[in-house]
Amino acid sequence: MAGIYIHVPFCKQACHYCDFHFSTNLNAKSDLVNALASEIAMQQKYLQGEIVDTIYFGGGTPSLLSEAELATILNQVYKSFQLADDVEITLEANPDDISITKLSEYKNLRINRLSVGIQSFNTDYLKWMNRAHNGEEATRALELCFESGFENITADLIYGIPSDTHLNWQHDLATILKYPIPHISAYNLTIEPQTAFGKWQKNGELNEASNEFSSIQMQMLIETLTAHHFIHYEISNFAKEGHFSKHNTAYWLDKKYLGIGPSAHSYNGISRQANIANNAQYISSIQKNSIPFELELLSESEKANELLLTGLRAIWGVNLAKLFALHSLNFDSFHKTVESYTNKGLTVVENNQLKLTIEGRFFADKIAADLFFD
Ligand code: SF4
Repeated sequence: MAGIYIHVPFCKQACHYCDFHFSTNLNAKSDLVNALASEIAMQQKYLQGEIVDTIYFGGGTPSLLSEAELATILNQVYKSFQLADDVEITLEANPDDISITKLSEYKNLRINRLSVGIQSFNTDYLKWMNRAHNGEEATRALELCFESGFENITADLIYGIPSDTHLNWQHDLATILKYPIPHISAYNLTIEPQTAFGKWQKNGELNEASNEFSSIQMQMLIETLTAHHFIHYEISNFAKEGHFSKHNTAYWLDKKYLGIGPSAHSYNGISRQANIANNAQYISSIQKNSIPFELELLSESEKANELLLTGLRAIWGVNLAKLFALHSLNFDSFHKTVESYTNKGLTVVENNQLKLTIEGRFFADKIAADLFFD
């Protein structure tokens, strides 16, 4: 089974924390949609005949596309690939775009999973992050989704907002849990240099929340959601039984995926490639029947580091058989570091999989970095 990711590189406005590839100029939307459909046709051999069980519209803001634009893209996917009967089709939607009409269009298109960018229910924080919606629209969007019969819904939340209080974070968690939502992704706010927040930080106008503050909010998140029967299956992801994201799980389990659109990444089991992150150049190249991508040839140490980074974040852990098959690497320091973290109760090896313990999840990035190969 394999996955297809479709990147829709447009947003109404730039959120102050976001470093994804997108443009707020929507003039090229129609050309871009046609280019996406063309790229899908050009890439129909990329997954080597594997059946596609997940299609994911991400971005950017896919909910800016019309029904006809989404249909153009999906119809080309149906023509070019064989789909599983229970294919999961996810669309990222922002609360301010969600309406009864849009939701019924999504149903017509067989979109069966929505990822709603809630981030916070607090209008002041949403404004501060330059989100296009307010707290009221966030709750209204969720209500509309459930009223329209969508059950497979995930929502994104952000914690570690510097001026936040733990009481407000608890309120956000309590608010989301009023809905029968089966999946939640929660991200610690990180400040990236190329963003508005990055510039504020450089000018001394913004300080990132302390590690201690973020750790407390992460602990609140884990305790609250696990008490409500969510499984903490990846550092930032929580799901009820049977509702793990098929799309993200494919990444973590090293399955093949095809990325379509500017800045999208692909992996066919042998090599990785990344499309150019520029809308105009992407469209112009596709119109000349050429996919503008760069091949990423990974050295054995880079492959090992990727296995560590992705594997440690998820409950399945790092497959040590795969890691040790990278014969050019020296594992002496790796074994010592694993032993040291295992003695501290932060990692464990079970059935030849290296995993983080519950305590270890608070130090995931540091542990991965310490295990990395040069
Ligand atoms: S809507 Fe999403 S992709 Fe667009 S700027 Fe905001 S966070 Fe980034």
